[in-house]
Amino acid sequence: MAVPYILKRSRKRRRTMSLHITRQSAVIVSAPYFTPTSEINSFVEQKYAWIQKNIQKQKEQQVREGEKLYISGEYFHYLGTPYPLEVFFQQNLPPGLVFWSNRFYLNCPDGVDRRKSYFIEWYKTKAKAYFAGQVDNLSRQLQLLPQRIRITSAQTRWGSCSPENNLAFSFRLIMAPAPVIDYVIIHELMHIKEKNHSAQFWKLIEKVMPEYKLHRRWLKENGNKFIL
Ligand SMILES: [Zn+2]
Repeated sequence: MAVPYILKRSRKRRRTMSLHITRQSAVIVSAPYFTPTSEINSFVEQKYAWIQKNIQKQKEQQVREGEKLYISGEYFHYLGTPYPLEVFFQQNLPPGLVFWSNRFYLNCPDGVDRRKSYFIEWYKTKAKAYFAGQVDNLSRQLQLLPQRIRITSAQTRWGSCSPENNLAFSFRLIMAPAPVIDYVIIHELMHIKEKNHSAQFWKLIEKVMPEYKLHRRWLKENGNKFIL
């Protein structure tokens, strides 16, 4: 079976050919400048089993590490639910990410960075709208009014409340279940009243959200999945 590969011919190389696999699973063959193509092809074919094995191994490793590959079949969370991604590329259609009927559709050529940026943009847009609405709801319920709301890209700081009562939330939180998001919002709103994490602060939180510890722990254990 033919393996697609990227060929790098080198004038410096004397005799040997070598092969490596990139993080995006592309096969790169380095060969001396004048090596006949047939020889390169048979070299790659001899390595077929090795290539397949290593691509598979690498993918499993990346999945274990929670690293996103932005390929079809991969799942992306939105409000706590994982939805599958389908990637395609059609030049006559506008590029970008669409969420439709419980599925992500991404029209985009190859390139992890570009694909990732479409996801970040999509999540940020959703986060902005969601936080605006839900902060409004909860702040009415709690009678705690913040100044402004800002959406950040923070990786581990889910939310904050400034001395002026400006609230900030990481767009990544939009991947978490709604009750977990509510916990973070309530937490930051409560800082309008209590600017610390004293026993009194946690008591106030518990009063409005008795199960808050569950959500806090969930975030600690699962937050690393939302890095992108
Ligand atoms: Zn806090």
